[in-house]
Amino acid sequence: MKSNKQRRAEIKARRLERAAASAARLRAKDVRLPQPDFGFALGCEPADRSVLKQYNNTYGVLPAFYVARPFTCRDCGAEELWTAKQQKWWYEVVHGHIDSRAVRCLACRRARRERLRNTGPGANLLGEQTDRLRALGATKPNARAVAEVEAALESKWWSLRVLAIQTMARWGGESNLAKLHELMTARPAGGRRYFAWERVAADAAKSALMNRERWP
Ligand SMILES: [Zn+2]
Repeated sequence: MKSNKQRRAEIKARRLERAAASAARLRAKDVRLPQPDFGFALGCEPADRSVLKQYNNTYGVLPAFYVARPFTCRDCGAEELWTAKQQKWWYEVVHGHIDSRAVRCLACRRARRERLRNTGPGANLLGEQTDRLRALGATKPNARAVAEVEAALESKWWSLRVLAIQTMARWGGESNLAKLHELMTARPAGGRRYFAWERVAADAAKSALMNRERWP
């Protein structure tokens, strides 16, 4: 019998192999540019340039797709894979700069965040607010918590806005759920160039409401 750990390691090794082969085939070209023969690339995700354009002042060409990228962790040397989905989240929800790349594995990223956090208040504002919102979701809402979530919904960091939506779902209550349904139904149909946040909000509200139904 193989242990779960062994099985996970095998799956990861296979994914890395496939990604390395895919990267080798694409190496001759800039894989971020639209290519007619993109279909074979592993784990392709379409990019939303209307979002990227808002947060990247660049004369370069913005990607049409994200493709899984193998990389070596800068700190521990582990062979890792930055999936297309993770890239989409990083560039379009967190608004990481288009030239930024994954350089550390999850464990090293967490260790580094912990070190940064210990360098004093305000050193890692996004991290602090993220933790704060997560903690709020686990408690009963009071007036101050509600005000914090409302402020987070207006944050420049969309990942905080998404967390605020998740927190409202965890809290539940008629007005929160009504608000989430409102966000969900306000998802703009078509017109992909505009209302990008409304689209992200609608999807976040939908999955938060679905998760809610799965809770005991
Ligand atoms: Zn590492």
